[in-house]
Amino acid sequence: MARIFCIANQKGGVGKTTTTVNLAAGLAKVGQRVLMIDLDPQGNATMGSGIDKREAELTVYDVLLESASVAEARVRAEQCGYDVLAANRELAGAEVEMVALDRREKRLRTALAAVGAEYDFVLIDCPPSLSLLTLNGLCAAHGVIVPMQCEYFALEGLTDLVNTIKQVHANLNKNLSIIGLLRVMFDPRITLQQQVSEQLKAHFGPKVFDTVIPRNVRLAEAPSYGLPGVVFDGAARGSQAYVAFAEELVRKMPPASAVAAAAEAPP
Ligand code: ADP
Ligand code: MG
Repeated sequence: MARIFCIANQKGGVGKTTTTVNLAAGLAKVGQRVLMIDLDPQGNATMGSGIDKREAELTVYDVLLESASVAEARVRAEQCGYDVLAANRELAGAEVEMVALDRREKRLRTALAAVGAEYDFVLIDCPPSLSLLTLNGLCAAHGVIVPMQCEYFALEGLTDLVNTIKQVHANLNKNLSIIGLLRVMFDPRITLQQQVSEQLKAHFGPKVFDTVIPRNVRLAEAPSYGLPGVVFDGAARGSQAYVAFAEELVRKMPPASAVAAAAEAPP
């Protein structure tokens, strides 16, 4: 079964979507089967994977409202090498429409069960809020990857997220844990960023990923070409860092299929 990770942080503009699409492309590049789910009504991860959100016929909205299965709604991002469950503005309505429904936090989890065996990794790009949409992501996931900038208020914002994850773990999803914190948009010339980075490591130890994603203009340019940086310009420093991050993740969290194969292999 696939390992399912949410890319979450309730702050906007911290690099969630950039991390989701580039990690998806990085994992695909190292041979992993990936499904990328866009849970943000802004649809940036959809557009950033080359799928036009205005033309998407079936999206994650239909999956949440159970009018389509994941297998019916997913589309292939050909150039990127992974599958996409798209989102557009329609998804904002799901929040309200789901309130009256039963199992409203577990709709994505239920829907994903049918395709879990087809992927090594499922990555979920969450909106910048702790809403019912994010809750659906957290209930479906095994873990959370938290991208963060090494800035003064970064740690403060983390407290809310950590508390939410604890509550979801206690009440809704016993499997959920924080996989790790990813330092993004890092500029080593800025002393404050180095200091915050050290604080993070002191505070969270091994929960801080080794890979650091630098601030890199190619990563910011790529979405306007409908591609993750990893696909748009694989030689850019930022792209290489995301591929290294994909490798770190595979090393630390080997896909279940690889674990099973190793167990079956003769000694
Ligand atoms: P979020 O999904 O958390 O709102 P985004 O991934 O959309 O954040 O990133 C916010 C902005 O920062 C975007 O314009 C994106 O292109 C830019 N950005 C993200 N990561 C980097 C990076 N490593 N270097 C340069 N720009 C980046
Ligand atoms: Mg985003």
